[in-house]
Amino acid sequence: MIDIKKVGQDQAQLLKQAADKDQLSHAYLLAGNDEELAVNTAYWLICYLNCTGVQKPDGTCANCRRILEGNHPDIRLVDVPDKRQTISIDQVRELKQELMKRPAEGTYRFFIINHAQALTLPAANGLLNLLEEPIAPVITFLVANNVNQILPTVKSRTQIINFSQVQVSDRTSFLLENGLSQEEIDLLGETAAFDRQLKSFYQELQGQDSLSLITAHQLAASIKKQKQASGVLEKYVWIMLKRWANEDLDQAALRPVAASLLTDLMKIDQMRQSNVNFLSSLDYLALQRQK
Ligand SMILES: [Zn+2]
Repeated sequence: MIDIKKVGQDQAQLLKQAADKDQLSHAYLLAGNDEELAVNTAYWLICYLNCTGVQKPDGTCANCRRILEGNHPDIRLVDVPDKRQTISIDQVRELKQELMKRPAEGTYRFFIINHAQALTLPAANGLLNLLEEPIAPVITFLVANNVNQILPTVKSRTQIINFSQVQVSDRTSFLLENGLSQEEIDLLGETAAFDRQLKSFYQELQGQDSLSLITAHQLAASIKKQKQASGVLEKYVWIMLKRWANEDLDQAALRPVAASLLTDLMKIDQMRQSNVNFLSSLDYLALQRQK
């Protein structure tokens, strides 16, 4: 249920200022572990831009009501369909067909893509030209709880606004944002030694070192020994590999390998949904580097 009274205050002000100066970006990535707050804030801005009341956005005028009830012709919401875990290329195509249309009523049209971390790889690629400077006035909001799941090429076409809550420690909040529950983080416990082993695997991948195939097997074996924590550790491996690859994107020399690693890591996310086992996924990652 959308509630424009529960928004990120700082983030809403940032968007309001941009709107008032006519400097809104054509694409925003609203990122962080509080997706509801992020979605509400996107709707808050849309109401602000369309509201006919005195205190904008009032949430009660005819325009605001139609927006909040999902009946406004200038707004398209794309989300994960019921019983599915991904946003498909077909859903993105529907948006593309709308891209050239002028706004029916207001100054802008708005596309909201909720749970953008669930875009399939083809869907994310299909999104790319949607995120280029559009011909018609369209503002796209991608809402994602996990920025590491967003393709670098998508990310670089958006302005990122952070919605993370910062009360928890950096490590905990990072892991929460990346899909672990607090229980899983507790189960994971201290990981310094494991981190070193994982980091050397990462460096072997990055260096296209054939040793990575052996290290993959060692990693899988040491995770298996952790019995009840092994499931969480497997998730943790994918989270950390993505984190390091994302960090390496900032370094020109490392960028090409990091980008291809990230693409493969996203393929692995899809493989995992079809229950491809952990070691096979690690092997895949190592073999891809040695092509
Ligand atoms: Zn209003």
